[in-house]
Parts: sequence; C-alpha cells; structure tokens
Amino acid sequence: KVVVLGSLNVDSILHINHLPKQGETMAMNDTTVAPGGKGANQAVAAKRMGAQTSFIGAVGDDQNGAMMLSALTNDQVDTKHVTVMNGISTGAAYILLEEDGNNTILINGGTNQQLTEAHIEAAREVIENADVLITQFETPMATAIAAFKIAKDAGVLTILNPAPAAANIPGELMMLTDIIIPNETESEIITDIEVTDEASMVASANILQSLGVENVIITVGARGAFYQTTKGHGFVDAFKVNAVDTTAAGDSFIGSLAANLDHDLANLAEAIRVSNKTSSLAVQGAGALPSIPTREQVFTALGK
Ligand code: ADP
Repeated sequence: KVVVLGSLNVDSILHINHLPKQGETMAMNDTTVAPGGKGANQAVAAKRMGAQTSFIGAVGDDQNGAMMLSALTNDQVDTKHVTVMNGISTGAAYILLEEDGNNTILINGGTNQQLTEAHIEAAREVIENADVLITQFETPMATAIAAFKIAKDAGVLTILNPAPAAANIPGELMMLTDIIIPNETESEIITDIEVTDEASMVASANILQSLGVENVIITVGARGAFYQTTKGHGFVDAFKVNAVDTTAAGDSFIGSLAANLDHDLANLAEAIRVSNKTSSLAVQGAGALPSIPTREQVFTALGK
C-alpha cells in the first residue's frame, strides 16, 4: 500500500515560438491542458505498478478540481483524503513551451498550499496502514513533517522527493526520511556538489546521509540512477530509448519504486532497474499521466 501526500495541478501547456517581451501581445501556436502535479503523477505511477494507492491532497470547488479528482479516480487511486476547498483555486501550472523545447513554468499552488496538519491528522489511519509514504515540496513543509512523523511511528517507509529544489530542508524532516530521491539539480542545491562522476555522487550521498537520511537515490536522467545505503553504493544504468517528452520521468521512477520496494530494501538495485524501465517507457510518450506505463507493460518490456 502506497500513500502519496502531494500536489494536484492542472497543467496548461502553452506552445509558443519564443517568450513574449514585456507588454507584448503574442499569438500562441496551441494550448493543451492535462492533469498533472508531482503528487498526482507519482500516485498514478504507483497504482499502475500495482500498489493500492491513496492520496492526501486538496483541490478547489472548480472545474480544475473536478478534472484532478477524475484523473485520480480513473486510475482507481483512493481520493477519500482529497479535500475539496471552497473559494480557493485548484493548483495550476502554466508551462511556456518554446519551439526549441525550452520550458518556463509558472505555478499557482492554490489549494495545494492550503493543506494543514489537521488534514494530515484526519488521514492518520491511512498513513499508519501504508507500507510506503511519499511526499515532495509542492505542499507545505509542515504537512510533510506531520505526515512523516505518523509514518515513522507506525514503521511506514518514508520517501522524500525534494522537488522543486530547496536548499534548506528542515533537519527534522531529513531525520524522518528513510529514502531521499533527488535528481541532479535537486541534489546539487542541497549539497553544493555538482553531480558528475561516481565520486561526486558518493560525496553528495555522504552529505545527504550526514543530514540524517540513511538511504539516497540520485536520478541522473538518461544515465540512470545512483544509490547509496548504509551497506554500500551502486549505479543502475538507464535503458537506452528515444525520449520524446521527459515530463514525469522522475515522478514515474518514484511511484514505481514505492510500489516495488521491499521494506528492508533488500531488493533495492532490482527495484531501481524496474523503475528505470518504467521511466524509460514514460519518456517515450507525450504528456505526464498518459505515458506512465502499467505493471504489465513494464514487466513485458523487461522480458518477464
Ligand atoms: P527528473 O524528471 O526528476 O528530472 P531524471 O531526469 O533524473 O528525473 O529521470 C528520472 C529517471 O527517468 C532516470 O533515472 C531514468 O531512469 C529515466 N530517464 C530519464 N530520462 C531518460 C532518457 N532520456 N532515457 C531513458 N531513461 C530516462
């Protein structure tokens, strides 16, 4: 059982030739709207990988909120702890996608930012009964800490995806985290070490461990993922594919991992290999949610 505490955002992708100048009125080439948000992507990935998955989050009493709720229920993610808030907009991301592939993103946190410790307390039972709890930084820090406290007390494995990147993560949260999963940029912002070769990954992981997290996975895009536990470290190569859209590469990796991991991490390297395969399939399709594969697709691709 996986629980995701996280964001629900409607993504509007604005297809433009180039960024407008201040004061300019400019035509767009196209607009596409789709359900997203790191929390939603990770939950759908975990569910498609076969885990019973529950969501803790919030939406507004608006069309975007309805879109996000149906995105979760279409994938049979439990939405009992998704609070509908009146008078506040559902989270939204505006992705300015230029012709050359460059992204500039504006986010209105909306209801995601209105979650409180009371909402976490209301979901205590579902957290206590989970195997794994995942969160990111698109909901308030206080909710992450409150949820991880409940999880730790109940022996639930906690996974922190420190995204969007943040420099000063509270020590309390680090101490409550079993596995931290940053990408290269997020790792660099926390540790001040540029992620290049394996030695730099070990050095970064050492710092993350010194901050109180026992287990570290650094995802390094098309290269794959590095891991370091108290028992040692290793690298799991990515699968070579033709990537068309890397949106949700990290999210599908994390959701898949949460669904596959043994509680004692005995199968960590193999679970990472399965996650690499999950993400390699996700980056070959357009969009976030539509391209996240099912367990069957992943294991068929692995030849199992
Ligand atoms: P994020 O999306 O958070 O930036 P990464 O770019 O590190 O995360 O990607 C996460 C994982 O997705 C990688 O560890 C890898 O398994 C997979 N992945 C990402 N990009 C590619 C790619 N171009 N080809 C194959 N796998 C990829």
